[in-house]
Amino acid sequence: MNAILTFLKNILSLDNTESEVFDVIDIKHTGAVVIARPDHCVSRQQVNENALKVLYRLRKEGFDSYLVGGCVRDLLLGREPKDFDVVTNAEPEQIARIFSNCRLIGKRFRLAHVCYGRDVIEVATFRKAISDDKTQTPRLNKDGRLLQDNIYGTIEEDVWRRDFTINALYYNIRDFSIIDYVGGMEDHKAGLIRLIGDAGERFREDPVRMLRAVRFAVKLAFRLHHDCEEAIAPNAHLLAGIPPARLYDEISKLFLTGYGVQTFELLRQYGLFSVLFPATDKSLMYEEADFPKMMVIKALENSDQRIADNKPVTLYFLIAALLWEPMLRRAKEKIAKGLPESNAYYDAASETLTQQVRRIAIPRHLTMAIREVWNLQPKFNARVGAKPSRLITHPRFRAAYDFLVLRAQTGDVSLEVAQWWETYQEENENTQRKMTQPQANDKAVNPKRTRTYRKKTKSAAVTISLDTHD
Ligand code: ATP
Ligand code: MG
Repeated sequence: MNAILTFLKNILSLDNTESEVFDVIDIKHTGAVVIARPDHCVSRQQVNENALKVLYRLRKEGFDSYLVGGCVRDLLLGREPKDFDVVTNAEPEQIARIFSNCRLIGKRFRLAHVCYGRDVIEVATFRKAISDDKTQTPRLNKDGRLLQDNIYGTIEEDVWRRDFTINALYYNIRDFSIIDYVGGMEDHKAGLIRLIGDAGERFREDPVRMLRAVRFAVKLAFRLHHDCEEAIAPNAHLLAGIPPARLYDEISKLFLTGYGVQTFELLRQYGLFSVLFPATDKSLMYEEADFPKMMVIKALENSDQRIADNKPVTLYFLIAALLWEPMLRRAKEKIAKGLPESNAYYDAASETLTQQVRRIAIPRHLTMAIREVWNLQPKFNARVGAKPSRLITHPRFRAAYDFLVLRAQTGDVSLEVAQWWETYQEENENTQRKMTQPQANDKAVNPKRTRTYRKKTKSAAVTISLDTHD
């Protein structure tokens, strides 16, 4: 018997870094395909060491423990996972008793965070969809959205509440196999994003899954399964009912991961972008010589490039670009109705942001940054005297300058202005002084070219140049 066990242990212990294998008598994964270690490429060498510690410790304490979700999916593709999610049959309080470095979070969805310095391993307890429990009535809102999701279950139950088949693969620390209840491996090989269960129903339960489908399709270069694709259009409007704070989290993941342009195109294709950014979507319909759409695309291209170059990117800059055209359009409408220009631009900025924040909860410090970037734009027209030297010391100068360059790239402002500022920044003080002499820059002294409009109160100053947006 011992010899057989040793033999089995040797077969299963393929990772040369880890020789210990737990007893091979495993729970039966009824209805699942079990992909043994030799038949898949996920190695413990690629798994975060703290996640491994958690998995082993739970196992040692007599619980089942698995990696699940994005980490298994990404490891199968040879990609580095963003995070490692552990799932177990231990309940949160039991997990807290095992790990002294554990804190429990969430009310509706109780989770354990096991902390190793700044590295946090999220440990969830198996859950079941409430609709599976005959003693409980699922709490759905009028659109079919699931309002409660906190009943513990088994792995067989846990799998059905996950979103896509490729996200429902479990890596078993007991024998390093992958357990697949839903055909996730096949879909993985075929590059398919397929919902578990009825696509329409799953989107109605949680409309954010539509955004996740797009995010994974772009990130992994996978296709949406036909059923998944078909179910988006009739349910896209349901995103409007999602709490704005949750949509803000999703937006950050959608646009700041280096595939912004493709994501934008796909969101538009599936009619999701119009729900997220209604004013921007509307402004895209008024294309004039490609200009409005170019601004959005250029901003996304720039962020994608910065991410590829390992440079920092900020969401507020992107949102400032997305909302620039709707803001200008709104201001022009107000001016046409007779509102003084300074008030028109100020009010347009406020209304555009207020309307957007109702859909996506952009934090206040970001909306303030967006306002600053917008407000600084007309100041780039003043290129004589002391104003340029003051402007470059403004804390938001760099972002505002980048925004100016973006506008210049899309024909929204003359390239010459952006070039002047590029040179100005690089020169020494002496040359800078020469550059800002009145005769050095005829255009800059022409008052007609630099008309700016200022609100009476200082804090409410909004100045917008008219020479580029008439
Ligand atoms: P990544 O972390 O790379 O963005 P992920 O798939 O790990 O992708 P998470 O948000 O970390 O995404 O979620 C972990 C897992 O939890 C998912 O893989 C999926 O199984 C499940 N999950 C997450 N969000 C949902 C949801 N809205 N509906 C159903 N299951 C979900
Ligand atoms: Mg994840």
